[in-house]
Amino acid sequence: MANRAFSTGNGPQTKLSRCSSSVGDSGTDKTKVGWTSPRDIWRNLSLRRKAELQSKRELFFKSDTVSGGGVSASVPPSAAPPAPPSTLKDALSKRSATLPEPQETNHVEANGIATKHSNSVSVDVSKPPSTAPPPTPAPPVPISAPPAPVPTPLRSTENIMKKAEHPPVAPKPDLPKIEKPKTKELDGYVGFANLPNQVYRKAVKKGFEFTLMVVGESGLGKSTLINSLFLTEVYDKDKHPGPSLRVKKTVGVETSVVLLKENGVNLTLTIVDTPGFGDAVDNSNCWQPIIDFVESKYEEFLNAESRVARKAAPPDTRVHCCLYFIAPSGHGLKPLDVEFMQRLGDKVNIIPVIAKADTMTPEECKDFKEQIMKEIGQHKIKIYDFPESTGEEGDGADVTKSLRARVPFAVVGANTVIEQDGRRIRGRKYPWGIAEVENLEHCDFLALRNMVIRTHLQDLKDVTSSVHYENYRCRKLAGLSHDGKPHRTNSNKNPLAQMEEEKREHDLKMEKMESEMEQIFQTKVRDKRAKLKESEAELARRHEATRRALEAQARELDERQRALNAERAAWERDTGLSLDDLRRRSLEANSKETVDGKEKKDKKKKDWSFKSVATGISI
Ligand code: GDP
Repeated sequence: MANRAFSTGNGPQTKLSRCSSSVGDSGTDKTKVGWTSPRDIWRNLSLRRKAELQSKRELFFKSDTVSGGGVSASVPPSAAPPAPPSTLKDALSKRSATLPEPQETNHVEANGIATKHSNSVSVDVSKPPSTAPPPTPAPPVPISAPPAPVPTPLRSTENIMKKAEHPPVAPKPDLPKIEKPKTKELDGYVGFANLPNQVYRKAVKKGFEFTLMVVGESGLGKSTLINSLFLTEVYDKDKHPGPSLRVKKTVGVETSVVLLKENGVNLTLTIVDTPGFGDAVDNSNCWQPIIDFVESKYEEFLNAESRVARKAAPPDTRVHCCLYFIAPSGHGLKPLDVEFMQRLGDKVNIIPVIAKADTMTPEECKDFKEQIMKEIGQHKIKIYDFPESTGEEGDGADVTKSLRARVPFAVVGANTVIEQDGRRIRGRKYPWGIAEVENLEHCDFLALRNMVIRTHLQDLKDVTSSVHYENYRCRKLAGLSHDGKPHRTNSNKNPLAQMEEEKREHDLKMEKMESEMEQIFQTKVRDKRAKLKESEAELARRHEATRRALEAQARELDERQRALNAERAAWERDTGLSLDDLRRRSLEANSKETVDGKEKKDKKKKDWSFKSVATGISI
């Protein structure tokens, strides 16, 4: 279960947070009107919670000595309550050690009454946490008792917000008497012990969805690492070329979906790329398309959830994890890294990754990691906080703890498998040796893979859903924009004045639109005129050119005519004949030929009719 805490740095909206920041949200504006300081809120909540918990615990772990079910608020917190079972106590103390601020969630009991459970540091009354503020005098208790708690919906962030504005003071909880069910021994096997298997089978059948975003400049090895993480060509060179092969002038957000199968478990993996990120000379606002994408997914989910006819579980396309690639410069974070992580830290689970760790010596890498963590703290960047406990016990928990200490993960990616001493190693071969990808002494690749996929994938999804999405939803429903400012100022004017103002605003808007349209129209007309003038000039130019060409042709023809006449005159002079004489002679010759031809034809005809008479054939 994710921790919820009040974030006070972003205005008066309630924020849920479980991201780590070595420097807490200390930027609280205590001077804000109507805004109680976090310490006071904490103290009040803590007091109230102590009293509630005391009563709850007494009910929960009721011993024979507490009879009648009533919980006395006068029991001092120091009076040792009956100790809870060690596992519960351990779990609570373990969890409280990892969580920076108290958290309160509402649960609806079977009888419909909302009760509050806390897994925060203030749970263990007998053992104050190290993160608790120094003891301060208790706040004055109002004389009139606050109203009894009203049943509230489960996980209602609005309620949390209300409580933050009007912190309650430790009231005596008027809890109903809860009968602890008696444990009965069964005579045989009934079958409900099989319930976890049913849940398991259902989950496997449904399959799992996970959305992983990779952000970083091109060439930092993002596609190589993704392929190495999932041991397959997620980035198939033909179908899904890596981000650097799709570098664009502006930042784009692209998704590739692949279905992975492992031991009968299906994982629909969506990889979100941001080709072009950080590649421009001026990178200002290059995080905006990414923020828009992340929020659009939340919006989609919110819409799917709020439909009248909705699916039991709408498809979860929200971004669950963002691997942010830091260049192995050895000098710390760049301004763009800081800006990006600051802006996205409260919207998505960021896991910082040092790319191409094989380019640094182990000492350099260690110093670089320290520098990065220092800067993350200085800039109050929220990165994903791997919970220490994953429910595993013994060695598993220790391993998780040691891997957790490796953040930011310095990784090496390689898709080539090298044979060495009969072993097949995934790594990068250099003249001086092999940088092994899956060797914890060479890099943190295994730590990253284990933490993200093997042990914390579900937690990443849970935090996305219960912290980042809830924050978005809360902002959205409260009508706040992403920077925490209200979309519209909430005035107390009377409705008529409000309408009047809206009308004025509308008229102004219309006027503005009209003048804009007028301007656009004028510009278009000007453009059109200029174009027409241009085409007119072009036509005139063409006309002139054609005229000149025709004139030249006419002149040429004249010249040829003159030359021909001169030639004819010269010929007539030489031969003593004129062209008219020649023409006459040729006509005479033609007519003679025609007469001869006619005579021949008549003769032929006569021969033919004579032959027909002789043979008796009539024609
Ligand atoms: P992308 O643009 O971030 O997706 O980067 P690519 O995965 O395409 O990698 C760019 C280049 O860096 C390729 O030549 C990779 O072989 C190389 N590369 C990837 N990972 C590493 C690494 O861990 N170390 C080193 N030295 N080179 C790497």
